[in-house]
Order: sequence, then C-alpha cells, then structure tokens
Amino acid sequence: MIDNRIKDIVIVGGGTAGWMTAAALAKILGPQVSIRLIESEEIGTVGVGEATVPHLKLFNKILEIDEIDFVKQTQGTFKLGIEFVDWGRIGDRYIHGFGTVGHDYGMLPFHQYWLKAFKTGVAEDIGAYSLNTAAAPLGKFMASASDVPPTSPLANIAYAYHFDAGLYARFLRNYAEARGVRRTEGKVTQTVLRDTDGFIDAIVLDSGERISGDLFVDCSGFRGLLIEQALNAGYDDWTHWLPCDRAIAVPCENVGPPTPFTRSTARSAGWQWRIPLQHRTGNGYVYSSQFISDDEAASTLLANLDGPALAEPRTLRFKTGMRKKFWDRNCIAIGLASGFMEPLESTSIYMIQSGIARLVNLFPDRRFDPAIIDRYNAQAAFECERIRDFLVLHYCATERNDSPFWDYCRTMSIPAPLAETIRLWRSSGRFYRNAEEMFILTSWVQVMLGQRIVPATHHPMVDQLPAPELEGLMRSVKGVIDACVESMPMHQMFIDRFCKAPA
Ligand code: FAD
Repeated sequence: MIDNRIKDIVIVGGGTAGWMTAAALAKILGPQVSIRLIESEEIGTVGVGEATVPHLKLFNKILEIDEIDFVKQTQGTFKLGIEFVDWGRIGDRYIHGFGTVGHDYGMLPFHQYWLKAFKTGVAEDIGAYSLNTAAAPLGKFMASASDVPPTSPLANIAYAYHFDAGLYARFLRNYAEARGVRRTEGKVTQTVLRDTDGFIDAIVLDSGERISGDLFVDCSGFRGLLIEQALNAGYDDWTHWLPCDRAIAVPCENVGPPTPFTRSTARSAGWQWRIPLQHRTGNGYVYSSQFISDDEAASTLLANLDGPALAEPRTLRFKTGMRKKFWDRNCIAIGLASGFMEPLESTSIYMIQSGIARLVNLFPDRRFDPAIIDRYNAQAAFECERIRDFLVLHYCATERNDSPFWDYCRTMSIPAPLAETIRLWRSSGRFYRNAEEMFILTSWVQVMLGQRIVPATHHPMVDQLPAPELEGLMRSVKGVIDACVESMPMHQMFIDRFCKAPA
C-alpha cells in the first residue's frame, strides 16, 4: 500500500504568519510530521500588526498558551473594541465594541427594539447597551468572571489583545521550536518545480542547501515568493474600493495608562491608528498616495502622537487585494503572501488564524485532491470578500466632503454584495449573514449606525411590544450594563495585578 501521508512541511517566512503556522501545525500534527521554517534576518519581517480580534483567544486555547504569560512576554494590553473618530463627519466618535449589544428579545435582535426606542426618545445611543462600548472609554477592563451568573455580561466578555509584533513572533518561535520545528536562517534564492506537474519540488537557499518537502507554506510576506513568483497565482487588486496603498508607522512614548481599545482617527487622505502597549504606543497613518505625499503624511502622523516618537517613521507600501489562488498545487499562502487589507478592523492576524484552521480542516495527502484545494480557495475568497465589504463600508458611508480623498470615497462605486447589504439595512434594519463570515451582526449594526446609516423603520413585530415595556426593556438592559461596568477594575490596575511585563 502506498503511504500518501504528508511527512515534510516547509514554511518559508518567519513573521507572524510563519510562526503562527509553525506553532499550530507542530501542536496539532505532532512529531510524525517534520516542520522546517526558513527565514532571513537580513530581509526581516514587516514589523507591524499589533492589534487583534477576540478570535485569537481560541488560537491560544487550542495551542494551550497561557494568557498571562503571553500578555507579559509580548508587552500586551487588552482590547474591548475600536474607537472610530471623525469617520462619518468630523467630530463624530463611536466604538465598534466586540461581543453583544443588549440581548435578543423574543425572535428579534436587540437593535430592532432599540431602533424604535431611540426614535421615540426612550433610548440612549446604542453604545450604552454594550458592556464593551460602555467600559472602554472609561478605561475599564477585566477578563470574564467565573463567580457571576452565566447570564451576566461579565461571565463572557469578548476581548482581544494588543501586542508587540516582534515579541509575538519570538514568543511563537520559542513555542514552535520547543515542539520540534526546525528553523533555518537563510535566503531562498530559487524554487525548483517538478517537470511532470509543476508542483514545488524544493527550495534552494543562498548557502546552496536544497530543501525538499511534500507541502510548502508561503509565509514570505507581500512578495509571495512561492505562490506568486514561482507559481504565478495572480492577484485581484481592490485599490479602487480601498484606495489606501501606503502606511507610515512610528512608536511613541506612553503618556498615560493604556486605553483598552484601538483608536482609528480619519485624516484627510486615510486614517491613523493608535495601539497602546505596556512599554510604548504604536502609531501609523494609512493613506492613499494618490491624495497625499509621503512627507505630508509623515508630518501629519508626527504632529498627532500622544508622546515623543521613539524611532524614525517607517514607510510601507502595499496593494490591497487577494491572490486569485490561496492554494495552488502543493503550496498554500498564509499571511501577507495571500493578500492584504488595511488594518482598519485588525483582520490580518485573524486571517492567518483562519487560514491555518482551514488548512487543518482540509489537510491534504500527497495526492492533493483538487476538490480539497478548490474548497479551500472558495472559502478563503468568500471570507476575504466579506471582510473587504465591511472595510469599504467605513469609507463609503461618510458625509465628509472636506478633501478629494473623502470625495472619492463618498462617491465611489462599491461591491454589489455590500450595496445589497446597505439597501436591506437602510430599509428596516434587517441583515443577512452567512455563517462563514467573520464579522457578526452586532459589528455591522455598530458600524452602520456609527457611520450614520440609520434604517427608515424597524421590524414590524417590534410594534407588538407596548410602549412602557419597550422603555422598560431599554432601562433594564442599561441598568445591568451600568452595574457591571461600575464593578470592573481599571485596565491599568488589571494589568498591574495580573500580567505586568518585565521592564
Ligand atoms: P512578514 O512579516 O513580512 O514576514 C515575511 C517573512 O518571510 C520574513 O521572516 C522574511 O524574512 C521572510 N522572507 C521573505 N523573503 C524571503 C526569502 N527570500 N528567503 C527567506 N525568507 C524570506 N494585522 C493585524 O492583525 N493587526 C494590525 O494591527 C495590523 N497592522 C498592520 C499595519 C500595517 C501598516 C501593515 C502593512 C500590516 C498590518 N497588519 C496587521 C498585518 C500584519 O502585519 C501581518 O498580517 C502579519 O505581520 C503577518 O505578516 P507575514 O508574516 O505574512 O509577513
């Protein structure tokens, strides 16, 4: 009997994608499979990517990573959501909080009741009904409590992390090497394809070493060394929908306690991120080079830091889009090699995680059944397209007319599925979501409302609830949220008590 099992996996790249993949595969596949990772210190990593979404908790759980240890070693902080400043109009401010908003009532989601209550003046802003959005601006944070009733919002708090990207890669490297992953320092100079079927046979390093494998994972970053340069997978360019194509990044000193949220402030030709860590704050201006020069973008960024800059600003260039094939022959691209969307909703590290999960789920043997590959590619493309639409929503749903960039975004054509989603929402706050999508209903609701897309009316069944009961529902939910927030400690206190990083 022929043994078709995959025995040798070669990962090219040692950034967040390479080390997350190596760590997860080592843990899940065990010692029967040999995993080698090749990286070049001279080329280095992209060095950014420090804000995450709550899904990372599941990754840590599967890998049995201890949260406290992980946060300490990566100078991490906690994140309840993202604050958007000046997006719909200059002066606007809203938080896209993770987790629930209110609670479903009967057959309907909470926001349907809220729409009517808000219109009739018996409800506050939607953020008042979410633990995350109420706690974040007050600087409060705690992990989920085990000593409260399971129905309490404190029993299951949706949160993510901010961390130092370099320290995270190091943390995962230690984890992976302890589980048998072999790292080789070197530059890949050649990819050798098999004559018979064009599959990758081996890669060759600048030292002359030839490394062969059954399965190759391309984590080489934007260049897509294997998937694009060797296999010509092709790329769908989405710059017309997401026009930002550069970023300038610079860390600065902390000037106060870290906020338990990422901030995204819209600027004249893009937006600025602010990611607070224990030892510094990460900042960057993501912008469109069509609408602003690098120098102007750099001075805008430097003029809007909390504290003194800790390094020279670094410029990064990118093209938003996705590979036409994420998996081609015996090569799978994960991370920036598979495509890129700006970090507006911190989706890239999540997409690395979901790529790994998809690979494990559809793990091949050496026959590389095309049915498996097609399924992987279809799922990955669907996920990317829905994330793309969610990001485009932030740009197109704006009333800003103060710069050519915002004029472009406000009037550009948008992807058809997004146009349909907005149309349905606008009519009566209805929303259709496929179970494989990343963003949940409450994310769409918060961003739609935050970007000033208010439905014309609510679901007709809401009118069955008498007015005093509607008001009572709003009051009771807010009462519970307020009491929970009141009992939460400050984020800084939580860090000091449980996971203070070494100086
Ligand atoms: P890289 O970090 O570029 O690593 C590539 C690796 O390949 C390196 O080790 C390099 O040495 C190696 N390599 C390349 N060529 C060769 C060769 N020839 N031989 C040997 N080795 C080679 N994501 C988030 O989730 N949240 C964020 O807040 C966020 N912010 C971002 C901000 C910006 C401006 C950008 C550009 C990205 C951001 N991302 C964010 C995305 C995130 O940074 C990446 O998804 C993540 O770092 C993974 O990168 P990577 O490992 O794919 O690539």
